Amino acid sequence: MDAPLRLRRDPNALVANWRALARMSGGADCGAAIKADGYGLGAAWVATMLAAAGARTFFVATWAEAAALAPLGLPGLTVLHGVRDEDLPLALSGVATPVLNTGRQAARWKAAGGGACHVMLDTGINRLGLGAPDLARGAIDGLAIDVLMSHLASADEDSPLNSDQRGRFVAMAEGVAAKRMSLANSAAVALGPDYAFDLTRPGLALYGGVPRAELAGVVAQVAFPQAQVLQRRRVLAGETVGYNATWLAPADTDVAILNIGYADGYWRGFSGRGRALHDGAALPVLGRVSMDLTAVDVTGTSIAEGDWLDIDYDLPRASAASGMSQYELLTGLGGRFERTP
Ligand SMILES: *Cc1c(COP(=O)(O)O)cnc(C)c1O
Repeated sequence: MDAPLRLRRDPNALVANWRALARMSGGADCGAAIKADGYGLGAAWVATMLAAAGARTFFVATWAEAAALAPLGLPGLTVLHGVRDEDLPLALSGVATPVLNTGRQAARWKAAGGGACHVMLDTGINRLGLGAPDLARGAIDGLAIDVLMSHLASADEDSPLNSDQRGRFVAMAEGVAAKRMSLANSAAVALGPDYAFDLTRPGLALYGGVPRAELAGVVAQVAFPQAQVLQRRRVLAGETVGYNATWLAPADTDVAILNIGYADGYWRGFSGRGRALHDGAALPVLGRVSMDLTAVDVTGTSIAEGDWLDIDYDLPRASAASGMSQYELLTGLGGRFERTP
């Protein structure tokens, strides 16, 4: 408690983002990807908010993530990475439903008498999923498949791969007895109703990420990092700030040292490029971001030791400034933040 570093989370923005994505999903159900601790915001908090708003399907990557969420009793908790031998006890306990990705996973699930499952088809990303030869071999015959899914490689671009993969998905699904189909992540929700099928799986855009221009102005920022000022100092013209002395004061400058650094996910790419915000004014980062500390220019302000500053974390802007992806900016948010509310 009382950490010098806070992550303010806006529940209204989170829920409004999910509702906007649900609207854009048309007749399809809109789920929520909450893997990687809800993209750094806190999976339990995200899931609680979205379940109350009506979300009925939640995606995590691993069984450890599912087990941690078990006390919430979420509807439709789904483990994307399937079942290894090591996962069988937990998987068979019914805490979540697996997405089977390989012939061996499918065989393992059948042999264990696992019951209802989901299946991932690979339609061109060449990541996880079964291919046409697996289907021809009968790898998923006899499974009780709820959702048949695939994943797009380039949904955030206007690429011919999108419609190619969609076409392959539809073709491969023919002859598979599945109750529902699902293809779209956040970016693919913005590709329109052809990509929504029965269930969409947004993650990034729930948290204010903007993977495609169509989502700008539709989703709002959810995560607001705030850091406390540990010291205010005057740096005289000609002096430098931070490791390797990369910033040289052109004039006398008032500098606030903030309790945030790259160990918190405030990456070194923000060195000389990030900014803090105070009463609408932008306070540029001066010199290198270090592990636990960052310096910003507070000249002409009354900001003092103990004050709190907002870090500019508008995701498209912060991504452009730092060179990190919007995904990395969210999932990197570290364990030293006090997450509020
Ligand atoms: C992470 C993930 C998603 C969510 O993707 P976003 O780009 O964050 O919307 C959807 N589907 C699968 C299979 C995923 O792994």
